Amino acid sequence: MALIDLRSDTVTQPTPGMREAMMAAELGDDVYAEDPSVNRLEAWLADELGFDAALFVPSGTMSNLLALMAHCERGEEYIVGQQAHTYKYEGGGAAVLGSIQPQPLDNEADGSLDLARVEAAIKPDDFHFARTRLLALENTMQGKVLPLDYLAAARELTQRRGLNLHLDGARLYNAAIRLGVPAREITRYFDSASVCLSKGLGAPVGSVLCGSSALIARARRLRKMVGGGMRQAGVLAAAGLYALQHQVARLAEDHANAARLGEALAGLGYAVEPVQTNMVYVQLGERAARLKAFMAERAIAVSAAPRLRLVTHLGVSPVDIERVIAAFAAFRDH
Ligand SMILES: *Cc1c(COP(=O)(O)O)cnc(C)c1O
Repeated sequence: MALIDLRSDTVTQPTPGMREAMMAAELGDDVYAEDPSVNRLEAWLADELGFDAALFVPSGTMSNLLALMAHCERGEEYIVGQQAHTYKYEGGGAAVLGSIQPQPLDNEADGSLDLARVEAAIKPDDFHFARTRLLALENTMQGKVLPLDYLAAARELTQRRGLNLHLDGARLYNAAIRLGVPAREITRYFDSASVCLSKGLGAPVGSVLCGSSALIARARRLRKMVGGGMRQAGVLAAAGLYALQHQVARLAEDHANAARLGEALAGLGYAVEPVQTNMVYVQLGERAARLKAFMAERAIAVSAAPRLRLVTHLGVSPVDIERVIAAFAAFRDH
């Protein structure tokens, strides 16, 4: 029985077409900005998302770090969600490496930050306070899509108050597919956007930071400083460009699989949160501890958490979903 891995959409393997693109990639030294495949990826994504420039980096964590450090100087701060990846899951990098203070706020149930509370958290220009520079949003946020009118309101607020606006768009394309709009309809509200190629898009490695030419020039300097300057990185960038050109529309299949899984589990009596994209959250409570081993015996990999996250991706088929549903039915009854 083949393993069905629902822990994350980072577990995807390169598709045959992607491997061919990697084999064929023209290469150069990207620290000299001489890798044609990296340059092509950066130019292509900057153009597609409506930015001046872009920078290929090894990970989403580095992309967000470079963005925060390029927007904020030492002693400045960014406003961010308590549950945001940039705040909670990146080792405190902005504080450790950038001397940037986070100002976290609770996320609302829909994944957004209440903009009235954001505005109240902006510190007055007074030497007692860190200088508030940036608002960082995440989309999708735990599988939830921020509405476009919310993004417009966030843009209005940040412009009015002189802040920059950064998007952790690790799953930007899941949001765009769900909304049925080109991704630039989301990124147009932001001063910078970080996009992961190695999540549902299916590339093995890499993220891209997009922004103004000045911001990307600062980020390029910082990338070298933190050890993210890669050499013949085009072998990876070619995979990323292939993903962007051939594996975006298929995210709709992942969303359909997640929707089917969520409905079926709710039908079995599980407490399932509404499904919008490729993530199904199930409240398992104390049963969570037993689930992981039960599923492992059936060649299904899940995380062990009371609020379980099941993630669909290009390695999970509709037939797999039916096998997962059957396993959850057996788990309920055992
Ligand atoms: C995965 C992820 C990142 C970056 O992750 P890396 O593993 O460093 O590539 C950033 N933000 C969000 C929301 C993510 O899911």
